[in-house]
Amino acid sequence: MLIVPEALIAGLVTAEDAFGAIEACFAAMARDEAYNFPVIREALGEGRQYGFKSGLDRAGGVMGVKAGGYFPGNAAKGMINHQSSVFLFNPETGRPTAMVGGNLLTALRTAAASAISIDRLARKDAKVLGMVGAGHQAQFQLRAAAKVREFEKVIAWNYHPDMLPKLGEVTAELGLPFEAVPLDRMVEADVIVTITSSPAASLMSAHVSPGTHLACMGTDTIGKQEVEPALLARARVFTDEVAQSVTIGEAQHAVAAGLIRAEDITPIGAVIAGLAEGRQSDDQITLFDGTGVGLQDLAVASTAVRLAEERGLAIKVEV
Ligand code: NAD
Repeated sequence: MLIVPEALIAGLVTAEDAFGAIEACFAAMARDEAYNFPVIREALGEGRQYGFKSGLDRAGGVMGVKAGGYFPGNAAKGMINHQSSVFLFNPETGRPTAMVGGNLLTALRTAAASAISIDRLARKDAKVLGMVGAGHQAQFQLRAAAKVREFEKVIAWNYHPDMLPKLGEVTAELGLPFEAVPLDRMVEADVIVTITSSPAASLMSAHVSPGTHLACMGTDTIGKQEVEPALLARARVFTDEVAQSVTIGEAQHAVAAGLIRAEDITPIGAVIAGLAEGRQSDDQITLFDGTGVGLQDLAVASTAVRLAEERGLAIKVEV
């Protein structure tokens, strides 16, 4: 099997590579050529979480699992709190083919998903990007969003305001003006990305103008929530995978409240594959519930393996 260490990923996989791999993955899911296996997620105590996300992409010839979790004590030991590794297997024989560092790949595939939703669903004339959240993942979402629309300004709100200057630095690198705003100023945004670990809604329906596209990316487990359920009832809702959206995604709350049904949610892959309509009018609110699926991890990991092999960087071991 081949090993592609975490340290190599930054020099191998670009945001553009991730965008292409995730678009193909979402389209394969919509065509029933690829599916995710049930997610396993366990609380280990003291805030530690560990889980396994896996799947099979028949079209791409990819099968595998991402093993990863959240370890809040890591930062004090000089490591990042989210830790993950991806293992790939030959779908015909079951033999392991690769082990790939999964930390940067997780950030890239998550950023690619929200950028794909903006590319496909936001109004073409979107000018103001609103960010709700300013943690580790927020800067990846911001950079990826800036590649798909000609934004003229970034406005941002965060529960911990002291984290906002870091996002301002990224915005400056992109050559865009930046303003920290109260949540009610999000009405000025044409696109809003939410990327927080919030346990309760921060962004309310009244904070969102008609015609806005939202990429809600932070809610990936039971009990997290970023936006008011009434906003989903007002919007046309899209997701990576409907089963995850209604159980662990942002839609879990609107579905539980009886405001929307699973049948009302459109997989973004169906839009990419030309099987479903995207935005239907300039004043429609579109909302992408990005829950993060195992197939995304496999797609970017197999891209990393291909690029490492092409450049003679993959390490070969016998198992
Ligand atoms: P982080 O710990 O670096 O940042 C956490 C963010 O949440 C910060 O902006 C923080 O201020 C905010 N926050 C914390 N408590 C809050 C509260 N009570 N109310 C409102 N905001 C609060 O984490 P990160 O790596 O940036 O990840 C952010 C979220 O995205 C996490 O929930 C993570 O699990 C999720 N995530 C989702 C995917 C996906 O595919 N959908 C992928 C990666 C991460």
